[in-house]
Amino acid sequence: GCAVCCGAMASSTLQLRALLYAVLPSESRFRSLHEVPNYVEKSIPFFIGFIALEFAVSWVQRRKLAGRINDGISSLSLGILSRLPDVLFRSIDIISYVYVWDNYRLFELPWHSPWTWYLTFLGVDFAYYWFHRISHEVNLLWAAHQIHHSSEDYNLFTALRQSLLQRYTSWIFNLPMALFIPPSVFAVHLQFNLLYQFWIHTEVITNLGPLELILNTPSHHRVHHGRNPYCIDKNYGGTLIIWDRIFGTFEAEDAKVVYGLTHPVNSFEPILLQLRPLAHIWNMFWATPGFCNKLSVLFKGPGWGPGKPRLGLPEEIPVITGKEVPYNPSVPAYLNCYAVVHFTIIMDLYIDLLATVSVSNPCLYEIAKCKYLNASI
Ligand SMILES: [Zn+2]
Ligand SMILES: [Zn+2]
Repeated sequence: GCAVCCGAMASSTLQLRALLYAVLPSESRFRSLHEVPNYVEKSIPFFIGFIALEFAVSWVQRRKLAGRINDGISSLSLGILSRLPDVLFRSIDIISYVYVWDNYRLFELPWHSPWTWYLTFLGVDFAYYWFHRISHEVNLLWAAHQIHHSSEDYNLFTALRQSLLQRYTSWIFNLPMALFIPPSVFAVHLQFNLLYQFWIHTEVITNLGPLELILNTPSHHRVHHGRNPYCIDKNYGGTLIIWDRIFGTFEAEDAKVVYGLTHPVNSFEPILLQLRPLAHIWNMFWATPGFCNKLSVLFKGPGWGPGKPRLGLPEEIPVITGKEVPYNPSVPAYLNCYAVVHFTIIMDLYIDLLATVSVSNPCLYEIAKCKYLNASI
């Protein structure tokens, strides 16, 4: 009846607000990790809705499509691939966090206090800043993260273009919080921090006035995705931009941003996009003489080479002429139609799979989480 309907309405506005981090502590605090909703999985319908909205707004604003079929399918495929490990085992970031909390915590902040909620908001965003910055400054981590930068378009599809490997490098940055912040609070903010970064991947929002001072915005994040020399290694923030302002990596949007990697891969193939950078590092590693140089190939910046500074030489970043065109091989219209239909079916199967697996057996969906947590909490 009415109560059920109102309940459903309330939960979907909460889900919508979660995409903007516009959620109160009282709406999102949980005693145990088991009670924490899977906000990310529940957002899938909203992702689709927002993408449709972005296309509509972009068309009205500029008579321009917000994305391309080839690039969009590539991004969505990468997004699906990146979530697949969750079907089999729960994320390493939660498991490692709970392990540290169980064995090494120094004290326990109260899970129901708004102060704990706000502190965790700051803590998760601060950890994200450093994880993200190091992902750009250390070649091995860049090999995982670069996939997110491989699109030469900038739209909401790009937000979903996530690495399959990155989760295996990001977890360690959150562990200091496990010394005093309960896992149930951490798990909420880990998801909100990720979700917030969805809507900023758009060109239809130009400038947000005073909000640009403290929040990471579409404008700031466009700079982060740019391959213009002025954009390189700038604006690492997740939700807040204050970390970049504090640690000297902030850059305001200026000349028209050209998106993508400084050395474009020119492919839409998701597995190739994931593995090619690793192959590149492997070849560099063996081709570079000397043990210390080999270590530098792995741990210095992607632009490093023998005799160069840690992050490479700024003058080696290719200049932007403004005449760059995105990789866009032309295929017959019927092939594009076929690709869309084929992909829609795959996408449908994937959403069904997630739903079936998580409804029929929540422990199978989060198998490692259950195995480990039933014993510990
Ligand atoms: Zn990045
Ligand atoms: Zn991004």
